[in-house]
This record gives sequence, C-alpha cells and structure tokens, in this order.
Amino acid sequence: MTMMPPTREERERWEKQDQARKAYLKRIRENNPHMVDAKCSLCESEITDHWLNSGDEGQIMRSHTVCFSCAFWMVIREQYDEKNVTINGTVYYVGSAPKGARFAGMGGRRFDIQRFGEEEAITTYDLWCRGEVPAHMKNLFPDDAEFLSAAQKVVVGDTTCWNPSSP
Ligand SMILES: [Zn+2]
Repeated sequence: MTMMPPTREERERWEKQDQARKAYLKRIRENNPHMVDAKCSLCESEITDHWLNSGDEGQIMRSHTVCFSCAFWMVIREQYDEKNVTINGTVYYVGSAPKGARFAGMGGRRFDIQRFGEEEAITTYDLWCRGEVPAHMKNLFPDDAEFLSAAQKVVVGDTTCWNPSSP
C-alpha cells in the first residue's frame, strides 16, 4: 500500500476541525478568567492546561479551581461504588473478569479482599489499581477493606508491585 497525499476534502476537513478546536479554546479561556495563573484551591499546586480539557476532569478543574490531580480524585470519588475498595490508602477497582480471562487486572492473579463490616470475603481475578490517594484527600477515601491470604502492595524504591493471595 502506498501512502496517498491527503485529498482536498481531507485537508479542508482538518482545517475545519482545527478552527473549531481553536474557537473552543478561545471560548473556554474567555469564560474562565479565574483559571489563568490560578493555584489549586485544595492543594495549592500549579494548575496546568488540563483545565482546558472538555472531559470530566477539565469541567471539575474549572468549577472548583483545582489542579488535575485533585479533579482526577474527585471524579474517582464520584464514581466510587461497590466495585471500589480502599486498602491502605490505595483505591482499587474490583473487576468481574473470570479466572483465566485473557484481559484482566493484575495479570489475572488472585486477590482475596475483606470489606470491613461484611461477612463474606471477595475473591477476584481482575483487580485494578486506581492509584494512591494524595495525602490531602485521604479523608474522602477512608480504608474500607483489607487484603487477605498474604496479598499485599509492595513498594521498593520507585517500583510498586502486588503479591497475590496464596491460600
Ligand atoms: Zn490540587
């Protein structure tokens, strides 16, 4: 297959998309003067250009004058349901892929989890780490579960890994 140069129609479409993008950015900047050179109202860090994003985080950054990291965690807080657990200040998503699935969190390894206040433990072969909650937001994510059967998060220098449950 040879690379064809773009047709005139393609070039015109790209040009239009580019103009629409520039108009969007201009409008967002004009409508949000409070975000220019602002610092995060929660953690005081610099606010990056992510506030221009059209997604959930961008909207929260503008409405709460917060940095991307704080907006990211506010979105996770909003989405936090019975599929999420917080263990030692790290949030995980408990997926439902079956044992042996080709695409699964933590390489499909087994994790046994005890949710506080519940009798039955959870066993999952599809655990996803959503990240470690920043210190100033930990009050929004109290620990609500623990690993069982020797599963644990291990941090060695800059490397983080997880040992699975080995019942
Ligand atoms: Zn922040």
